[in-house]
Amino acid sequence: MSTAAYRTGLGPAALDVERIRRDFPILDQTIHGKKLVYLDNAATSQKPRAVIDAIVRYYEHYNSNVHRGVHTLSMRATEAHDEARETVRRFIQAADASEIIFVRGATEAVNLVAQTYGRANVGEGDEVLITAMEHHSNIVPWQILCQEKHARLRVVPINDAGELDLEAFEKLLSPRTRIVAVAHVSNALGTVNPLRKIIQLAHAHDVPVLVDGAQAVPHMAVDVQALGCDFYAFSGHKIYGPTGIGVLYGKEEVLAEMPPYQGGGDMIRSVTFEKTTYNVVPYMFEAGTPDIAGAIGLGVALEYVMGLGIDRVAAHGQDLLAYATEKVGAIDGVRLIGTAQHRAGVLSFVLDNVHPHDLGTILDREGIAIRTGHHCAQPVMDRFGIPATARASFAVYNTKEEIDALVDGIRKAHEVFA
Ligand code: PMP
Repeated sequence: MSTAAYRTGLGPAALDVERIRRDFPILDQTIHGKKLVYLDNAATSQKPRAVIDAIVRYYEHYNSNVHRGVHTLSMRATEAHDEARETVRRFIQAADASEIIFVRGATEAVNLVAQTYGRANVGEGDEVLITAMEHHSNIVPWQILCQEKHARLRVVPINDAGELDLEAFEKLLSPRTRIVAVAHVSNALGTVNPLRKIIQLAHAHDVPVLVDGAQAVPHMAVDVQALGCDFYAFSGHKIYGPTGIGVLYGKEEVLAEMPPYQGGGDMIRSVTFEKTTYNVVPYMFEAGTPDIAGAIGLGVALEYVMGLGIDRVAAHGQDLLAYATEKVGAIDGVRLIGTAQHRAGVLSFVLDNVHPHDLGTILDREGIAIRTGHHCAQPVMDRFGIPATARASFAVYNTKEEIDALVDGIRKAHEVFA
């Protein structure tokens, strides 16, 4: 596929972005007469031809339900589905494919843990520890749990740069803490959290850690065994895969003790009206017909990223982010929101006298797609005393020329409203 996708002469860290761009058919279009500049990758990334083709191939040639069939198509579908699970295992370096649970996305992954592990282990007066930079999907499931159990949701504060206050984190870890849930990378600020330290501190208190990796996997190598996290969640659609599919990784010994999530077909071993016994992990957590095409598409997306080389992908992302930080940060009237020392993937900012939504609309007229709003992280906006930000977020197919176009667009907007 794209193993050779780096240009000799640019060094081993450089991606051949022009070649990569040809893998993404959607990029080849104009919006309002301007070349599309897609910088909304943190919301969802575009899909390479290989992923689109794999989904079409499944529906055209071997669409069939998995696990239950003895016929050829069902066996082919089952094999492809199993292969996708193995690809995910390899991508995040899990010890065993049985630790990979297919879910709808990061949101469902967190809800699954809250509703199974959480309901079994969090009781009255207990505490769930999250951070001030979480996406709503890593806040609300815990609020629902805490309300039901009369437990307490505690929040680790962040500083003005958007970095976690680790001292406060350590103090907040208490004998009542039952789980820590933390973003690997903040979608609103781009902050990369010091996971190893966080996990080490939590484990020293015998507290398990769930990592929301939705914004991390597209931008850096993730090794769940090296991290030692108990759970790791991400969505397929932010890493060049389809929507509707995502992953919950869980350590084998933790998953083995968890009660089921949803009831239904495939998650059982035997059912009578008197008693039901459950299937083995991961199937026990995957009731009903899965998103077969989605899992296959996700597998191909992860193969695509591994083919490019995750280290090169990470270096390209860092290069773009550094360039954008410098160029956008230098524009008159721009204030960057999120200036942590370690960042990845996203640049959030506000512009004097211009509401982010107006900026987004003006940029759209230039063919430039960014996101504006609270980014499903309203507590982050409250922390910085703003209602919204404009956010540009990057992917393997983005270029410095596109960032230059963004900078011109922002300047134009500033002039219009000045
Ligand atoms: N966590 C983070 C950090 C995110 O950025 C997102 C998506 N914006 C999610 C969780 C939720 O992902 P999904 O909507 O795909 O379930």
